[in-house]
Formats: sequence, structure tokens, C-alpha cells
Amino acid sequence: MSSQSDPVDVAVVGGGAAGLMAALWAARAGARVVLLEGSRAPGLKILISGGGRCNILPSASDESDFYTSGSRHVLARLFRTWSLERVREFFEKELQIPLVLEEETGKLFPEWQRAVPVRDRLVEAVQQAGAQVLVPWRVEKLERSGEGFLLKSSEGAELRAARVILASGGASVPNTGSDGAGYEMARRLGHSLLAPYPALVPLTTADEELTGLAGIALPVRWRALLHGKVMEERVRELLFTHRGFSGPAVLDASHWAVRDRAVLEVAWGALAPEEWEEHWQSRGRREAAKGVGDLLPRRLAEILVRRARLREDYRIGDMTRAQRDVLLRVLCAFPLPVNGNEGFRVAEVTGGGIPIGEVNPSTLESRKTPGLYLCGEILDVIGRIGGYNFLWAWVTGRLAGESAARPLRAPVRA
Ligand SMILES: Cc1cc2nc3c(=O)[nH]c(=O)nc-3n(C[C@H](O)[C@H](O)[C@H](O)COP(=O)(O)OP(=O)(O)OC[C@H]3O[C@@H](n4cnc5c(N)ncnc54)[C@H](O)[C@@H]3O)c2cc1C
Repeated sequence: MSSQSDPVDVAVVGGGAAGLMAALWAARAGARVVLLEGSRAPGLKILISGGGRCNILPSASDESDFYTSGSRHVLARLFRTWSLERVREFFEKELQIPLVLEEETGKLFPEWQRAVPVRDRLVEAVQQAGAQVLVPWRVEKLERSGEGFLLKSSEGAELRAARVILASGGASVPNTGSDGAGYEMARRLGHSLLAPYPALVPLTTADEELTGLAGIALPVRWRALLHGKVMEERVRELLFTHRGFSGPAVLDASHWAVRDRAVLEVAWGALAPEEWEEHWQSRGRREAAKGVGDLLPRRLAEILVRRARLREDYRIGDMTRAQRDVLLRVLCAFPLPVNGNEGFRVAEVTGGGIPIGEVNPSTLESRKTPGLYLCGEILDVIGRIGGYNFLWAWVTGRLAGESAARPLRAPVRA
């Protein structure tokens, strides 16, 4: 690839969800834009998202759907720049991607239930807006040069840009191209880094009785407990796997376990003690395993009864108050025996990253290096399962693109 000596207005590093959106809005605002994507094609992560169906957005959202070590006020301010309603309108009206609601989860998917056209329409829109997409162009070095920046590729090509948008993502699923290289570039330009960790990731266990339940899924009420304090509590589905636990409940809860080593407690079936008591009221002669198995998968019920140190054929009505309390604790406050996680190879997102306090919340311009903008997963914000991570990428991508395209100098007055 040849070197380009004529500087562009805006170079976008990374052609994922955030970078494509940033390139689009910067080009629409009139800037000369080049998008540099290190992989063989842009948007590889969009293609594998939502099991290949792309859960493009949630149907409702507020700041409690996101997690950051930074200020929630800043988060709220960023989301106000492009409301969920307007983002949805953009996809449906401008990109002509009709969306459908999956009622039981509240997720929005493209009507075609395929991610490929979503990625393709975004890339087309970027090109139609006049941005140049260079693939593969892996940025190896990003440094300040005069008033702007010099970017060097792994193939030895060079590019000069007045402004740079760093949209290189996190470190999750590195074979899509997001391998954490952007963190180091940001650090060299003065940023600090909150240690990246795998998030929205399945958890592992050494408990072989529980891994023997692989394939069983059921609703749970999960609670993350840190020093005895409930940090978050939600009802979602848990899936047993051959190595541990997954499903929306565990993926959402995982960052508490991975980052903070919080205890994850579950109420099986999302049932409260009163609901069990009510169920057992007229079933005193029923055996414990059956009295539990009425409302939970049978094999899980048998394990839980044994964990409560009861014989499976012990009758519900014969339990002492103390025995009943132990069983209720096992059923409604069961600490998941977690010993690790499946790592960046499969984590849907990366927690940690560049602190949001290091960017201007009105523009996403770096407070450390003027002319540098950051957006998407490289920043220290993650959303829960349900389209929230794309929402973050779309909103911050647009804001970074529009801001970076603002005139470099104030117009000269006649
Ligand atoms: C399996 C899976 C399923 C998912 N499903 C969903 C879902 O359905 N809904 C949802 O909301 N979220 C989903 N997510 C999360 C979502 O995909 C990400 O949060 C989102 O893609 C982040 O966008 P981004 O542009 O910030 O980063 P990325 O999508 O990671 O894009 C970064 C881009 O930068 C490029 N790059 C990196 N370094 C360089 C470099 N040095 N030079 C040039 N280019 C570089 C990479 O190749 C990559 O293309 C899923 C994630 C995974 C892994």
C-alpha cells in the first residue's frame, strides 16, 4: 500500500460498529474521512452478533443497563446526544433496515433475522457519504505529528490526519480483529487504562454435579453480593454448561464475579421462600425431591435436596423448621461455586478500558491529546445483554464523528 502525503481531515481507526458510525457522521458533516480497518473486512463482530441475527438495539434503555467505573452523570449526558427512539429511526428510515421486537426479551432484530445486511448497509452508507474505507489497514503506530497525527500501518504505509477517532474496540474475540491494540495507542497519547477484563462471559466451576446438568436452562433471580451488600439483582435465564454457567443471567452478572470477585447468589426458578411455602402447604406427604421437582428440573431438584442434607424421600411435612430453612436457603440463596471464566476468547465485551473521565462528554475528544476522539468499547463502559452494547457503540460513534468533523479552525471573517 502506498503512502498518502496529503493529510485527511479525520482518520478513523477501526471499522467496527462505533468506527463505521463515526466515519459516516464525520463524512456527512463534510470532512474528508478515511476509515482504517485492520481485519480482512469491516464489522466482523457485527456479523457474529446475536447468534448471527444481530440484536441491533434494545427496545427500552436507561443508565442502569450500563456499567462503568466513571460518572453516571457523564453516561446520561452521552446518551442524551442521540435518544434510543432517534437511533431506531435512523436504522429503520435512513438505512432502511426494518426492525422487529422479540417480545420475551425486549430485543430488536433486523426483520431479516440476519446480521450480514446490517453490516453491508452501514458500509454502503459510509462509502456513499464519501468516506474512504481502507481494508486491511492495520494501524501499528499512532503518534502526534505537528498539529495533527501520523498513522503507520503494519505494511509500512503512512497516513497523516488532522484528527483521529480511536474506535478499535476492546480485547474480546480477538479473531474479529479487536485484540486490545488500541489501548496501548491511547496510553502512548497520555491516557490511563483501567485493567481490561472479560465481561458478558460464561463462568466456570469445579462442581461436577452441576456441570452434569449441562444443557438445562431455567429462570433464576440472581444477586451480586459484595461484602454482604446487594450490588445488583435481576431475573433472567441461567444455562448449565459442560464447564459451568452461562445464559443471559450469568453473562449479565459475570462482570461482578470477574472484576470484583463478588458472590453470585441465585434463587432457582426465580421463586421466593413464600412461594415455596405456599406450594408445599397442601403437599405435606410429598417427598422432598418431588416437592422441589414440581417447580424445578428434576435432576437439579435432586441435587438441591441433597445439598440441603435431606434424603430425597424425606417428606415435606416431616421437615423441622430448621431443615425447612436450610432447604429454602439452598433454593433461594444458592451461591454459585464459580472458579473462573471462559476468557477473552468468548467474552462478548471487554470491561475496563479508557476512563470516561478522560474524554470531554460533549464531544468525546480526549482531554489528554487534543484532536484525538474515542468511542465504542475502548471506553470503560459495558452494557448488559440485549442490544445495549451496540447502542453504546452507535451513540458514541456518531458523537465522535460529528465532533471530529467540526471545522478545524474558526471560519475567517471578512
Ligand atoms: C459473539 C458476540 C455477540 C455479540 N452480540 C451482540 C448483540 O447482539 N448486540 C449487542 O448490542 N452487542 C453484541 N455484542 C457486543 C458488540 O458486538 C460490541 O460491543 C461492539 O461490536 C463494539 O463495537 P466497537 O466498534 O467499539 O468495537 P469492535 O466491534 O470490536 O470493532 C473494533 C474494530 O477495530 C479494528 N481494529 C482494532 N485494532 C485495530 C488497528 N490497530 N488498526 C485497524 N483496525 C483495528 C478491529 O478489527 C475491529 O473491526 C456481541 C459481541 C460478541 C463477541
